Amino acid sequence: PNSQYEITRRRVENGVREWWYFSNSEIKKLKDHINNVAPDLSNSINKILSLGAEHKRSLLHDIDFLSEADGYAKWREKEAESLSNIVQERLRYLQNPTDCANAKKLICNINKGCGYGCELHHVVYCFMVAYGTQRTLILKSKGWRYNKAGWETIFKPVSDTCTDPSGKSVKEWSGHPDAQVISLPIIDYVNPKPQFLPPAVPKDLALRLARLHGDPQVWWVGQFLKYLFRPQEATERLLNEAAKSMSFVKPIVGVHVRRTDKIGTEASFHSIEEYMVSVEDYYDVLEMKEKDVIRRVYIASDDPKVITEARKKYPNYEILGDPQVSMSAAVETRFTENSLKGIILDIHFLSQCDYLVCTFSSQVCRLAYEIMQNNYPDASARFRSLDDIYYYGGQNPHYYVAVLPHKAEGINEIDLKVGDLVGVAGNHWDGYSKGRNMRTNQLGLFPSFKIKNTVESVAFPTYSEINE
Ligand code: GDP
Repeated sequence: PNSQYEITRRRVENGVREWWYFSNSEIKKLKDHINNVAPDLSNSINKILSLGAEHKRSLLHDIDFLSEADGYAKWREKEAESLSNIVQERLRYLQNPTDCANAKKLICNINKGCGYGCELHHVVYCFMVAYGTQRTLILKSKGWRYNKAGWETIFKPVSDTCTDPSGKSVKEWSGHPDAQVISLPIIDYVNPKPQFLPPAVPKDLALRLARLHGDPQVWWVGQFLKYLFRPQEATERLLNEAAKSMSFVKPIVGVHVRRTDKIGTEASFHSIEEYMVSVEDYYDVLEMKEKDVIRRVYIASDDPKVITEARKKYPNYEILGDPQVSMSAAVETRFTENSLKGIILDIHFLSQCDYLVCTFSSQVCRLAYEIMQNNYPDASARFRSLDDIYYYGGQNPHYYVAVLPHKAEGINEIDLKVGDLVGVAGNHWDGYSKGRNMRTNQLGLFPSFKIKNTVESVAFPTYSEINE
């Protein structure tokens, strides 16, 4: 397929969603307003809302069918596999140099001292810089707060042949490109910032990725996680046994409810009902193409009450998830061996779901979404975040580009001219996004459909010696 076809197909799908976020939210506002003056109209408005929602589901179903009927499904599978093979092969090559004693190395200490998702993102950042500077990643993980014995007891080592951190010259990041060993600080302190950070993807893969995937930066992160999360035998057994004992089968929607210490500091409270609206919507669409659908949900949370509450409130759903696991995720018990098992299980199962409903303010859900990319040619639209859009903590700026002009209405909105670069701060999921127009430096709201994503690319090494 040509790129424009794939990009447009995804844009239409996204446009239908955005159009309904807008209409639904505007009609509801109108309804609240009218309720006071003409309450008898409220029935008609409810009809508009419910038929509108049905129409939206029907459109999404048809667009989904388009991607089956256009004959490119096989191509997408193959292309995704081919791109992933290239990257995995390069990572294996990078991590297993023929002469470790003289190899260039990048040292990364997993102990950032934060949560599991945060520490894994820290390792991915190190790994990206290692790939970008063509240095073998040396992961220091002894004494890791999630497992004192280290990374290798849970996952395959990042290298089979090169784990010795020593070298002729050892320097801190930057200013010493020739040092044999460089140690990388955490992303919050790295100076200058490497260009090899999200949203950038390697230039030599960028065009293919832009065609295949709706959000290449997530795919790129997913590739590093694919390499990192190769389980040791005992871990593999743990995952398989858990899947069997809870009967983890598809279709299934993953719901991550982040509560405890996050609420009021980095995120707002969302009731289980808010998550379930999007779950219901997912199944309503699925039921248009499949019969006798069992509505299944996998719930992960750091608050065990969430699972029991959902089971009580949604008896027509099969609710998988273990309050015991959530218990081990609460702040007091977070860093024990048990909590490691819990978070590994939860992230694994969330990532294996067909669709994710969560808050992207949490690194746990972002991690699951990134890993999910490995299960589909393009899983970029298989989520609903109740708060943030997807981002990578500490990333370089990511610009969208205006494809339609906009004239600001009211003081909260900003103008757009076609071609303007816009740094997007968030999507309000009501048809509007908030961002900064880089041309005018204005910050404010604009209709989400008037911009489009751009794929940022940087000249990473191309590892051409692999094929020589
Ligand atoms: P964030 O704080 O949500 O952005 O993510 P982090 O991963 O950095 O830190 C939160 C920590 O809380 C995780 O690493 C887990 O230890 C725990 N946690 C949060 N949500 C869950 C969950 O759904 N299941 C489990 N098992 N642990 C969780």
